Amino acid sequence: MYDVAVIGSGPAGATLARLIGDSCKVLLIERRDLLERKEKTVAKLCGGLIAPDAQGMLGKLGLGVPREVLVGPQLFTVRTIDFQSKLERYYQRHYINIDREKFDAWLVSLLPPSVDIRCGWFFKSFERTGTSIRLRLKHNGKEYIEETKLLVGADGAFSPVRRMLAPQIHQEKYLAIQEWFKVPKNLPYFSVIFDRTLTDFYAWTIPKEEYLLVGAALSPQGKPREKFNLLKEKLLRYGFELKEPVKRGAALIIRPRSPAQIYPGEGNIVLLGEAAGWISPTSAEGLSYALRSALALAQSLRENPRDCLQAYSRRSGKLKLNIVAKNFKAPFMYRPFLRRIVMGSGITVMKIYNNY
Ligand SMILES: Cc1cc2nc3c(=O)[nH]c(=O)nc-3n(C[C@H](O)[C@H](O)[C@H](O)COP(=O)(O)OP(=O)(O)OC[C@H]3O[C@@H](n4cnc5c(N)ncnc54)[C@H](O)[C@@H]3O)c2cc1C
Repeated sequence: MYDVAVIGSGPAGATLARLIGDSCKVLLIERRDLLERKEKTVAKLCGGLIAPDAQGMLGKLGLGVPREVLVGPQLFTVRTIDFQSKLERYYQRHYINIDREKFDAWLVSLLPPSVDIRCGWFFKSFERTGTSIRLRLKHNGKEYIEETKLLVGADGAFSPVRRMLAPQIHQEKYLAIQEWFKVPKNLPYFSVIFDRTLTDFYAWTIPKEEYLLVGAALSPQGKPREKFNLLKEKLLRYGFELKEPVKRGAALIIRPRSPAQIYPGEGNIVLLGEAAGWISPTSAEGLSYALRSALALAQSLRENPRDCLQAYSRRSGKLKLNIVAKNFKAPFMYRPFLRRIVMGSGITVMKIYNNY
């Protein structure tokens, strides 16, 4: 019997397992192969940018990102493009540009040896049995059963744990589509693209060595593939050099518009990171929220191992407020009229002298 079984070894699950691994008997289940990193396993779809809030959290957790995880170029500028109002502005912001798979593998490499980590394993379902929980797992075509006192769903936006536990909870979801293009020359900007005819969220480009990532968060009901193709046409016309993509992927992304869309769990089942709905509703930055929620749960388990959910709900109150505050800011980014005023005002805008 495990004290804690964590499903998902993304930043939330791996961080929790690292923080509690020495004091509890922990099982960590992850479908990706983060230990051997074979070329052909599933990869997490991500822009791979560590934003300032996530940098702060890594610092708070006593961590510094190793060189092997970094990819060039490091980015100091956000290029904001509004296709509809034909405005373009540059703003200073420092992102750490990373290889997301290597980042997740690095977090797993930090786990204490006492954690029972099983990569390439699938969580199938759970069943409550009195005070404990029975898990059905799958590995190499065989089924396995394990028991745990506490189940933690850190299994991302599509969280099977959340869907089984609380299918009634409404969470607003977008379909993120992302493609990789080999480009002759990359500009050192994280581009953020707004266009209401494509999405009421946003699209982006991110340089990664000799590749340019093009992505967009789109309404799953609004012909997302067609909208993505339209985005590429618009980018081509705008001067981006995009030929055939070398890689593509799609994944869900949560956008919590209100605190009611955050669900921390129930009884002895707790949700962490994006599984709970922890992610920025304005930028879809999720790494800092994954790390913050993992720390909040680790502290709650120490404070009250018998009823950690109550302590976790209280400790993550500030994170909820943060999401409320972001939703107040959202109209200035996403209402075309207000965005035009903000971009037109020139406040905090950077002038770029690359053709001097
Ligand atoms: C296209 C895209 C780009 C993004 N770009 C950025 C960015 O640049 N910066 C940023 O901060 N955020 C970004 N995000 C958001 C960020 O990736 C997530 O919010 C963050 O990864 C959440 O961390 P997590 O640990 O909660 O979940 P995840 O990182 O999603 O981890 C969940 C883990 O659970 C595992 N899992 C799921 N189901 C099962 C199962 N049945 N059995 C076993 N394992 C399972 C998955 O393999 C995964 O490893 C992006 C998201 C998307 C979709």
